[in-house]
Amino acid sequence: MDLTVLMNAGPWLPVPPAGYGGIENVVATLVPELRRHGVRVVLASVHGSALETDERVSVFPEGQFAQLQKPYNQVMGIAHAHLARVADELRRRRDIDLVHDHVEVVGPAVLAALGAEGPPVLHTLHWDLAKHPHFYGAFPGTWIRTNGVSRSQLDRAPAALRDSALGWVHLATPLADTRIEAAKGEHVVVMGRICHLKGQHVAARICQKLGIPLVLAGPVAACHHPADLAAILEDPDDPGHGNPDVRYYTGSVSRYVDGDMVRWIGSVCGAERDRLYASARAALFPLQWDEPGGTAVVEALALGVPVVGLRRGVLPEVVEHGRTGLLADTEEELAELLGRVDEIDPEECRAAARARYTPAVMAERYLELYEKAVAARRPSGR
Ligand code: UDP
Repeated sequence: MDLTVLMNAGPWLPVPPAGYGGIENVVATLVPELRRHGVRVVLASVHGSALETDERVSVFPEGQFAQLQKPYNQVMGIAHAHLARVADELRRRRDIDLVHDHVEVVGPAVLAALGAEGPPVLHTLHWDLAKHPHFYGAFPGTWIRTNGVSRSQLDRAPAALRDSALGWVHLATPLADTRIEAAKGEHVVVMGRICHLKGQHVAARICQKLGIPLVLAGPVAACHHPADLAAILEDPDDPGHGNPDVRYYTGSVSRYVDGDMVRWIGSVCGAERDRLYASARAALFPLQWDEPGGTAVVEALALGVPVVGLRRGVLPEVVEHGRTGLLADTEEELAELLGRVDEIDPEECRAAARARYTPAVMAERYLELYEKAVAARRPSGR
């Protein structure tokens, strides 16, 4: 397809991320596939991004994720500085056919403000859309096209946003055809940011009670290693104490973490992450929110790991109860289901991921939406 797309991944983490990185993983999965279709990609990210693209735009040398521990009035300039650079680039050149934007709120706000001269924009909504009622709740829809990452996310969206969205594109993983040699252990894994929404405290409570080993992988705020968190906790003046995820871990999770039955191993990446998934008996998703997309869910399926979780958000859309995973309505039921994971055939999980959650499927769907977004160009006709 003869198209030049500015892919705005934002300033928070490099693409691909070294370990945790929801949006950055989506971009890293999508871009190579788009380029195979002949799309030229200008990546707006941080300088340290290693993803192969046609061109790059960046302000920051490296990911600014760690800054998010600071108070809002000290970090609000980061996304704006990144977007100001993107806007500059778009004013300077005329060859960008479309911006595919992934930056929460600031992205569509700045890109819409370019007015009639700006290029068409497709803004992917990666979040719980109730999160910014003042912005997404009154989303004007003019000039900015949107898409969700699941049907259930859009079903719950504010009406104006739901009605103007072009549709949804499920997340994907490049792991779909990979078979990882890893001896099955007894443990189950929760892969993701350690935060209340992902429900690690529920996983820990259940596993401790049942005597099932649990591995928690993922960062606590910007702490990728337990030692980073220990350093914050030892320094009474560290602003990290106020971070909600730090408070969640210390208040609700750490009491279960005994280094034996329940372990927090920090962030894992690359082959280590894949082996951890593949060696687990199940990937656990005790969600405390309506998870909109869930890359970690499709990664588990792709590696033949049954998904066991609470029936909410994207889970019932992506996981077929009894075939690729087991879904519960309550914590008690979830605990019971952990005893039944052997009923799930890993080949069924892999087959579902191969059919529905590959980069090729995702890219084809985005190309359809790009066509629609370009057709709905701004009044200037650019
Ligand atoms: N992840 C990782 N290492 C970790 C924890 C998470 O590589 O230690 C990855 C995980 O495999 C997934 C992404 O980070 O690709 C998290 O994406 P998801 O959509 O599941 O969560 P969210 O974006 O809501 O944090």
